[in-house]
Amino acid sequence: MNIDDQINKMKKYAEENNVPIMLDDGINFLTSYIKENNIENILEIGTAIGYSSIMMALVNEKVKVTSIERDEKRYLEAIKNIKKFNLEDRINLIYNDAMDVNLIDEYDLIFIDAAKAQNIKFFEKFEKNLKVKGTIITDNLKFHGLVEKAEDEISSRNLRALVRKVRAYVEYLKENTRYKTTFYEIGDGISVSIKE
Ligand code: SAM
Repeated sequence: MNIDDQINKMKKYAEENNVPIMLDDGINFLTSYIKENNIENILEIGTAIGYSSIMMALVNEKVKVTSIERDEKRYLEAIKNIKKFNLEDRINLIYNDAMDVNLIDEYDLIFIDAAKAQNIKFFEKFEKNLKVKGTIITDNLKFHGLVEKAEDEISSRNLRALVRKVRAYVEYLKENTRYKTTFYEIGDGISVSIKE
């Protein structure tokens, strides 16, 4: 099976098993960013089945990814997928809750794509692992279009609470003067925060 077929197979699995993975626009943006900025070392919070880790590692052979996932079934599926692409030596998976993981390495890029309510916590926990002039990219800032809706249009209370947290994260990024953040209307909404 060629690489494109393997990638499509992973996407199909994600769809059939309700695993949220990056949208095509988002992944194209992320991989172009990696290419254009010569990113080599990446930390990802939220592996799911390894789709974005694999897409990032396929940018070029210098790219190394460390990715954290707390769901066992997804983690095991990611391990399988990474083996299929022979990327075991460049993608390192950690099976744990990211909030319990302590890393000493420094990364050029941190990609936050896990529990959306915890974005600020992930940002604050892992920014010590970001190199000077490094970048933190976060996905789903539109939260499937819900962030732009009025509160009374969102029927579920839990969902309203989540949307409030995503909005709070956007405000947090705007006010954080240690980073210059640009927001993109790409995929489900992406932010790029560069450490000043
Ligand atoms: N980045 C993946 C991709 O595009 O292929 C998609 C990741 S999916 C949107 C989010 C994943 O983060 C889920 O599989 C979920 O289990 C995981 N997750 C959520 N909170 C987490 C946490 N605190 N620690 C580790 N993983 C977490």
